[in-house]
Amino acid sequence: MKIIVQKFGGTSIASRDLRIRVGEIIRSTRDEGYAVVVVVSAMGRKNDAYATDTLINLVTDTNPNPAPRELDLIMACGEQISGVMLSAQLATMDIESQFLTGPQAGIVTDGNFGNAHIRYINPKKIMECLAQGIVPIVAGFQGMSEEGELNTLGRGGSDTTASALGVALNAEFIDIFTDVEGVMTADPRIVQNARLLDEVTYNEICQLARDGAKVVHPRAIEIAMQKGIPLRVRSTFTESVGTLVTNRIAGFDEPVKIVSDRLITGITYTSNIAQFKIITSQIENPRGLELKIFKSLALADISVDFINVQPEIIMFTVPVEQAGKGVEVLKNLDIMPAVEHDCAKVAIVGAAMTGIPGIMARVVEALTESDIQILQSGDSYTNIWCLVKKQNMQRAVQALHDKFELGKK
Ligand code: ADP
Ligand code: ASP
Ligand code: MG
Repeated sequence: MKIIVQKFGGTSIASRDLRIRVGEIIRSTRDEGYAVVVVVSAMGRKNDAYATDTLINLVTDTNPNPAPRELDLIMACGEQISGVMLSAQLATMDIESQFLTGPQAGIVTDGNFGNAHIRYINPKKIMECLAQGIVPIVAGFQGMSEEGELNTLGRGGSDTTASALGVALNAEFIDIFTDVEGVMTADPRIVQNARLLDEVTYNEICQLARDGAKVVHPRAIEIAMQKGIPLRVRSTFTESVGTLVTNRIAGFDEPVKIVSDRLITGITYTSNIAQFKIITSQIENPRGLELKIFKSLALADISVDFINVQPEIIMFTVPVEQAGKGVEVLKNLDIMPAVEHDCAKVAIVGAAMTGIPGIMARVVEALTESDIQILQSGDSYTNIWCLVKKQNMQRAVQALHDKFELGKK
């Protein structure tokens, strides 16, 4: 049996017309001779009735800090609603299907509420459906721990469900259907001339995803990569073939194409970051200061990033929603940090740019020409990032995209 896992994101199943469209995609994939396993996300996006954010707000409006266990139980409802709705729609189209929650589909997680990893999958029920010609529709983003607790897989985690099922079922392809043409050189919502990348390596897309391009969850790529299952990122709304993510060599009857990493794959951004600056000369007793600061922040469960410690200054960032708590923690140590609340990180991402001279100079040139101040910067083997004010984020992404001519083939 040739199996394909097809995952449909929230916007792809948000209306009846779209669910009909999804039914047509499933039908034509079956007509091509594949057994289809479907994975669904919760319907719609922020502010839509059954979207994950709406379900979270429902409970946090009553209690801003609900128990993680209960929060997972409510978050998991979104995928169940969309799965049942899709199954109902398919029945009207003479496609027999059965909806399965994550636990019913045999997805076993590690017990970590809100950000669980999948430990293993027992695909017995899915295989039973397939053997009978029934399309299993699996709720993405959820599984059950060995202790019998429901866990969610972290935001965007339906992609992870699809990939893990693809690996467990040894699928021919994992299709991620979404609301853009595929993986692009930047988010097409903010860069008009962003270009579709028709083929990318696992490594390239992993770097993009880790750096904030939320088109596919990074964990989903890591899982698909383990078994080399090709992943296709495609649009639900158009016939475009999308992006093929693979390192697999197709066969020996034609010249073997070597797929390697590009110099620069794309531009990414992450917003809602607050930058903290502490001038050490202003502190009465700066001995052991760094240790005190980072230990206290860790004890308060504040996740710290972009750390830059110099003799005169200590800089780091925290997610903006943790900034208030961060200030409190530091005040208790008699430290008054300067906080820049509305920051964003923009990055150029590419797995092959290490050791190529002049790239940082071009980054600085692009931002300076656009009158954008760099608040902090850093680099790794796969990216160069700059912290900028949030109001400059979109212009910064566009400027970098233009400077590195990513809109041109
Ligand atoms: P879904 O609900 O289908 O999982 P997501 O919102 O999680 O959809 O991911 C798709 C979104 O990713 C697109 O709407 C787009 O705005 C965003 N995105 C960010 N960076 C990129 C990129 N480099 N290429 C394509 N899309 C991107
Ligand atoms: N519905 C979940 C979320 O919004 C999972 C997903 O969309 O992949 O994070
Ligand atoms: Mg997503």
